[in-house]
Amino acid sequence: MRILLFGPVGSGKSTQAELLAKKLGVPHLSTGDFFRDLAEKKSALSEHVREKLGKGELVPDDLTLKLVREELKNGQYESGYVIEGFPRNVNQARKFQNGVDEVIYLDVSDEEVTKRLLERGREDDTKDLIKKRLAVYHKETEPMISYYRKSGILDWVDGERSIDKIHNDILKRVNAHDNH
Ligand code: AMP
Repeated sequence: MRILLFGPVGSGKSTQAELLAKKLGVPHLSTGDFFRDLAEKKSALSEHVREKLGKGELVPDDLTLKLVREELKNGQYESGYVIEGFPRNVNQARKFQNGVDEVIYLDVSDEEVTKRLLERGREDDTKDLIKKRLAVYHKETEPMISYYRKSGILDWVDGERSIDKIHNDILKRVNAHDNH
């Protein structure tokens, strides 16, 4: 199975992607983690990524697509994957077809996300940056909902429940897809 999982910052997408990947026995790729690692390194590319992350802006599409495609060439992804945080906008989604079977959208309100992120307190979780990232999310990422709905592969999941409940709900949908 090739699965994409997205939702706003602080929707629990990373936790859910990890749990799902483990259950399915496929690798989990988080572009957020990928870029955070890259930002730590010393190169012009890292500097560029660091700047984008620091501003709460998206890394440019062409660069993101190139890095994801390169990463997916690794043999471990051959039997399937769970990718989280990518695509991040309709342009990335259009350019990345890759035989995706299912797209899971984790729905959590702005209020809940803000509360969770302030509790988490990661370096990029300041109030201003959260606001900025949510604005970017609504403008850039949310339109993917209708894009994937039209493709008929979108599964909407209520993300304001316990981790276990959400995980079980996702599993049910993945199994339903698999039996098609
Ligand atoms: P996340 O942990 O998914 O919230 O991602 C953290 C940051 O990494 C985002 O705010 C973006 O700057 C960058 N990022 C992650 N995934 C993508 C993507 N698919 N396209 C562009 N930027 C991304």
